[in-house]
Amino acid sequence: MQATEAGRRRLVRFHHCRQDIYCFEVPPQCPFCGQGVGARRLEEAALSIDSPFVDGHREKCSFLLKPTQGTFLRDYDGHSDLHVGISSTHGTVYSYTALGVQRDGEGWEQSVSVPLLPPHAWALLNQWDKYLEDFCAAATWLPHRYEENLHNCYTFALAFINAVLRADGSGPLDKHEFTERFVLPRTRTASKYITLHRAVEAHGFHATAMQPAES
Ligand SMILES: [Zn+2]
Repeated sequence: MQATEAGRRRLVRFHHCRQDIYCFEVPPQCPFCGQGVGARRLEEAALSIDSPFVDGHREKCSFLLKPTQGTFLRDYDGHSDLHVGISSTHGTVYSYTALGVQRDGEGWEQSVSVPLLPPHAWALLNQWDKYLEDFCAAATWLPHRYEENLHNCYTFALAFINAVLRADGSGPLDKHEFTERFVLPRTRTASKYITLHRAVEAHGFHATAMQPAES
């Protein structure tokens, strides 16, 4: 069950008693008032919450993040070390560690993803795996060059992204800019989702004061 591994159990939200109530399955009765929960009114209908996690082996040409140890939902505490990589067009995730370039066929099943290719960029898509292999062959990524703080998985992924941007005629992104624009918004969403998911796992449901109707 791939979807279950990427997001574990899917969260749903329904409204009752002026609360947004999150759970894995809508209960027959509202946990606050005990009344039957039906979708009699549209606003009471349960809505499924998108998981911020994807199976990295099914994401083509993406920048991927996951905790170095364990998984986001089970182990991430907001400060844990993260490991990043780049996916190929066929499910292999390339990353750089103290052992050199790694090509993983598994282990990235619960990742945060930043897609790197605009839709319909066929030329780039066709070249992607070759770019990636050529890039990995550089002496820069030999194991002994690895340095935990200055020459690490992030250096590798960003250098690859910049090599692709250069080939595409665009300017490079620095680490700060890439992180601010593409990574932090997603890790913030992931952190909120993890908190919610764990609360529901622990208590069966989680409620917050109802937000004004979304437009
Ligand atoms: Zn109620």
